[in-house]
Amino acid sequence: MNDMSTINRLESKVRSYCRHFPVVFTRASGSTLVDEEGNEYIDFLAGAGALNYGHNDPVLKEKLIEYIEEDQIVHGLDLATKAKRDFMEAFESLILSPRKMRYKMQFTGPTGTNAVEAAMKIARNVTGRQTIVSFTNGFHGVTMGSVAATGNSHFREGCGMQPQGTAFMPYDGYMGDEIDTTEYLDKMLTDGSSGLDHPAAVIVETIQGEGGINVASNEWLRSLEIVCRKHDILLIVDDIQVGCGRTGTFFSFEEAGISPDVITLSKSLSGYGLPLSLVLMKPELDQWKPGEHNGTFRGNNLAFVTARAALEEYWGDNTFERDVKRKGEIVRERLERLVDLDERGVLSARGRGMMQALDCTSGDLAARISALAFEKGLVMETSGSLDQVLKCLIPLTITDDELKRGLSILEESVIKALSEIPEETMEKDVEKLWMEVLA
Ligand code: PLP
Repeated sequence: MNDMSTINRLESKVRSYCRHFPVVFTRASGSTLVDEEGNEYIDFLAGAGALNYGHNDPVLKEKLIEYIEEDQIVHGLDLATKAKRDFMEAFESLILSPRKMRYKMQFTGPTGTNAVEAAMKIARNVTGRQTIVSFTNGFHGVTMGSVAATGNSHFREGCGMQPQGTAFMPYDGYMGDEIDTTEYLDKMLTDGSSGLDHPAAVIVETIQGEGGINVASNEWLRSLEIVCRKHDILLIVDDIQVGCGRTGTFFSFEEAGISPDVITLSKSLSGYGLPLSLVLMKPELDQWKPGEHNGTFRGNNLAFVTARAALEEYWGDNTFERDVKRKGEIVRERLERLVDLDERGVLSARGRGMMQALDCTSGDLAARISALAFEKGLVMETSGSLDQVLKCLIPLTITDDELKRGLSILEESVIKALSEIPEETMEKDVEKLWMEVLA
């Protein structure tokens, strides 16, 4: 069947992923999606980072079914529930305490953007300052506060008014490898005539997910922390997409050894794709008045159940971390091989852990590869300012066999797409070239 007609007729034009993968999905398990006709797809999208443990993890599912069958609390505003308490205790004992991290927990509305809104409010309210410094190509959500910290004009223009309260600085590598952009930030903050108002906070992704898998080095993150401390500015790490194990450690900033004042988590926190968001703040920053940032769906008891199960299943020791790093190396090696095969020099690979990507220089080329891969049974999205980056957001629990099959489909698709570029246009600018090919 794969009948999209109702969706195409009734769902708003704002829909996006279903345009790129126009089939009706019915079932999913681990790293495999199944459509209405029974076709199987390997999932290299993983709910844009919400499915680090894959679809319908059996251990998490069992706990969820048990909880539902026992008629435990499903909706409870922010009332105290056993599910919440159990999750908080597990998060403290398995994640915070072993890392010697002392943070208060705030459960915001269940989307990532709501956690970012709360983090920005905390910074503004505590410091009494308004400006939040964000970075070029940063993505932090699309509600009014968070979209102001999001660089991409596509999202900013969707607001219908100018987003307020942020200033943008160049991310690591934005000005080329030789330039340390934290020095520029430091200079802007030091010079009272730079035009940059004293900010409340800096918000940063350690790897920019939607912005094109731009990886900040550990040195850059450490320098950023030093600049923040020097100028009495709070450091917010938005770990919504790259946290919960994506880079190999639970938090993406662990290798850098920095200590953010505020951390936002969402996406894979529930472990099961259920909505749940969490803001971690240093205890002295918890200056909220009761209910000041509220919401009907603060905390999600079903998500607390699966989130706790995920922590207990995967984060009791470092076996999982090691495996994520091992798989990340497999992906990187295969991507590097493709880069070596590409005589035109349009491809490059980058990433950290299981956050890996192939930059195709051209958005059209990346879209063509993604479309060819989908025909062969692989779901994989693009990101970046020109949508030129193919993003491998693979479930961390994928089997080696599926991983290799998915990567082989990717390879075949890349080779086919490159072979479609006519020889005589090889010298031309790739963007123009693809416009010609697709015309
Ligand atoms: N922050 C980052 C780093 C993200 O990647 C995203 C979503 O992709 C968000 C915030 C917003 O999360 P949500 O889409 O759940 O609002």
